[in-house]
Amino acid sequence: MNKKQNNDILRTSSQYVRGVGPARQKLLLNLGIRTVEDLIMHFPRKYQDRSNMKKISELEPGDDVTFSGVVLAVSLRKLGRRRSLLTVAVGDETGRVNLVFFNQPYLEDRFKQGKNIIASGRVNLYRGDKQVSAPDFEFTGRGGDKRLIHTGRIVPVYPSTSGISQRMMRRIIRTALDRCSGSILENLPAQVIGELGLMTREESFRQIHYPEGYEVLETARRRFKFEELFFIHILLRERRKRMAQKSSRPDVSPPYPLLRKLLGQLPFSLTESQKKVMSEIRSDMESGRGLSRLVQGDVGSGKTVVSLLSMFMAIDCGYQTAMMVPTELLALQHFTRIRDYLSGLPVRVELLVGSLKAMEKKEIHKGLASGEIDMVIGTQALIQEAISFRRLGFAVIDEQHRFGVKQRARLGSRGELPHFLVMTATPIPRSLAQIVYGDLELSVIEKLPFGRRKVTTEVITEDDRGECYSLARKVFRKGEQAFILYPLIEETESSDLKAAVNEFETLQKEVFPRFPLGLLHGRMSYQEKSMAIESFKKGDISALVTTTVIEVGVDIPNASLLIINNAERFGLAQLHQLRGRIGRKGKEGVCYLIPGEDAGGDSLRRLNYFASTTDGFRVAEKDLQLRGPGEIWGVRQSGRPVFRLLNPVSDTEIVKYSWKKSEELVRDDPGLKKKQNRVVAEYFRDYYKPGMEIADIG
Ligand code: ADP
Ligand code: MG
Repeated sequence: MNKKQNNDILRTSSQYVRGVGPARQKLLLNLGIRTVEDLIMHFPRKYQDRSNMKKISELEPGDDVTFSGVVLAVSLRKLGRRRSLLTVAVGDETGRVNLVFFNQPYLEDRFKQGKNIIASGRVNLYRGDKQVSAPDFEFTGRGGDKRLIHTGRIVPVYPSTSGISQRMMRRIIRTALDRCSGSILENLPAQVIGELGLMTREESFRQIHYPEGYEVLETARRRFKFEELFFIHILLRERRKRMAQKSSRPDVSPPYPLLRKLLGQLPFSLTESQKKVMSEIRSDMESGRGLSRLVQGDVGSGKTVVSLLSMFMAIDCGYQTAMMVPTELLALQHFTRIRDYLSGLPVRVELLVGSLKAMEKKEIHKGLASGEIDMVIGTQALIQEAISFRRLGFAVIDEQHRFGVKQRARLGSRGELPHFLVMTATPIPRSLAQIVYGDLELSVIEKLPFGRRKVTTEVITEDDRGECYSLARKVFRKGEQAFILYPLIEETESSDLKAAVNEFETLQKEVFPRFPLGLLHGRMSYQEKSMAIESFKKGDISALVTTTVIEVGVDIPNASLLIINNAERFGLAQLHQLRGRIGRKGKEGVCYLIPGEDAGGDSLRRLNYFASTTDGFRVAEKDLQLRGPGEIWGVRQSGRPVFRLLNPVSDTEIVKYSWKKSEELVRDDPGLKKKQNRVVAEYFRDYYKPGMEIADIG
């Protein structure tokens, strides 16, 4: 069969599969199914093992069982105008049992005395007799169903939608599989299949729907997992290669006089980890490879300083630089801190955020266009507004998890492709980083300047709140500070979450009358926000009552206590960011998590896990396990999760192989032109190249 015929079958509307028709086609659309191919790609959600047959005498109430027998008697009783009870007695050589069906009188005709039947369902007791209500059933033997699909085997259970029963779904998909028989082409290189011992594509489709056993099922699943990742890896590798070929990058080379001066006036010296990453960055730029690098480092590991110093290499070579951060608050903080570091150096730094006055913005736009501004720090305003740089040579994106790849591309696409650096404090397991940031090199700042922060985390209950507040008073008396966090800023009708605005007043008047408190939340104006942060920084207030606006980057070295209300409302990665606000500069910190009173057992377990470790990588991994990578990273292809079967965090072997094999393939056969890779190239072109994009993240 040639490729065209093959595609003709796969791309036929699922409406023309026997048993579908226009009405069911509408329902199938709810499941995203349009074509025959979509049908066979509709993988089971789980399986029921109905392969283990019981004798009727062995049936026990409460058990889910499968058994076979002969139809002995059929009786239909009307129970009312629309209600009925159909009882089918089935027997084998060990005994008899009733199958009962409520309100399905039309089934009566199907049960003929003497027919061989096989049934699966749960046994219950009715007036002392064993019976099976609404079982799945099939007829066997002469005149029966040719192949078992509902019983007597491992049976698929599909994601379904109302109006389509599991029985119907099984029949439709079985029919679709049969129609495709002989026309499902291989899409992986023969050499890869051989080397990894993968099952062929067509066989995998058969086995994933109707597995002959659990081991074969696993083999089929493994093949599809590999397939899911392999083409993405090819895509990323191709993209990486194109980037390297196409774009010329700004010419950066020593000497770096300003950088030297800046290093001399920093109040500290770099850690070994920071130095290592600096040298990776430097060698990317000087080698002509160009810098496209992701720097991971736990909160407080000193990423900002690294990015600042790297920007200086570009400034030393006459380029402008830009740093994009996710919030105004963070932009402001970086701006003030960087300005302090730079004092006395002939470098002009400006802040560009959405809430500046039009006049002020215009000035900055002018300075960027003329080249007078050497460094601009800002928010999305940097890519949203029509800015032109005279000579942008270096771009930093801080706290990447808030930005998408698309935005990154936009910042990069102004004029010549600048060097760029992405900084993230949400550690991503390497396997996933490869997928999400596959076009970036990866650096990790392993060690923190003062060692891992000493923060003790405790999950406490509402009853302990008083004690927690006493501890806060002690902290304040020592001259240290606290964050008190609430998930929402105002109470809403639908929820009774404590809100920062309301709680602020109570806390100030009744709980901490002797200590000045401040309020900071997302709906305050930019000026109000910066005033609140400034007075907190100066120590004018003891505690900041706030929301997640402080999540990223806010740096108050003197803060040592963090109280998080309704902690179950926050994701683990987010909690880790929040916890990064305290225990800085080597001080010991305490973090109290107070879950809401209706927080469930799963939430509490999650919080307790969080309390048990301060290692950002472990927290991130747990978060991934719990929420799934799709949800966190939003890696999607045409609205569907890219990974239906693969879990990039736990399927590490597959990830490793795929990464390695994709490299070999792209290296040995650039552009996939060789004859033996034609199937791969065609599949890639049909399914991945168009519209494949890794969507916005976070
Ligand atoms: P990150 O962005 O990784 O969370 P920052 O760059 O904001 O971390 O640094 C956290 C704090 O540590 C800042 O106050 C910074 O000045 C300080 N810092 C950074 N590097 C060092 C270092 N090598 N030695 C001492 N302090 C450092
Ligand atoms: Mg930072």
